[in-house]
Amino acid sequence: MSDTATVFDKILDGELPCHRVYEDEHVLAFLDISPLAPGHTLVIPKQRKAFLHELDDEYAAAIGRALPRIARAVMAASGVDQYNVLQNNGRGAHQAVFHVHFHVIPKIEHRGLGISWRPG
Ligand code: IMP
Repeated sequence: MSDTATVFDKILDGELPCHRVYEDEHVLAFLDISPLAPGHTLVIPKQRKAFLHELDDEYAAAIGRALPRIARAVMAASGVDQYNVLQNNGRGAHQAVFHVHFHVIPKIEHRGLGISWRPG
């Protein structure tokens, strides 16, 4: 693995651990290490691209198929029926890890997280 590997590359390569929520041929989902709410899940393509607009159709379609399944799993696990799906592209858009990822964040109002994320 090159020096420019992101933490998500290392998770895909098994060099870093993760708490796996979902996996198929094209997609991996795992719990965020610093969750904005319990159950905060990250969904990544197994294609190594930094930005959404770089993804091949095959991986984009796979993410599209997987997201509703993962959302259902997050809802079941967290016990909430409201959630945010967020996806950042570029440092100025709050992207910190340069491997495409979607955040699935349960909306947990009663824990004081009325706004779990806002654009800058
Ligand atoms: P971004 O700001 O959209 O790029 O979000 C990156 C996310 O990756 C943040 O929510 C981090 O907490 C999360 N993160 C960073 N490193 C790890 C890790 O090793 N495992 C799981 N999540 C991570």
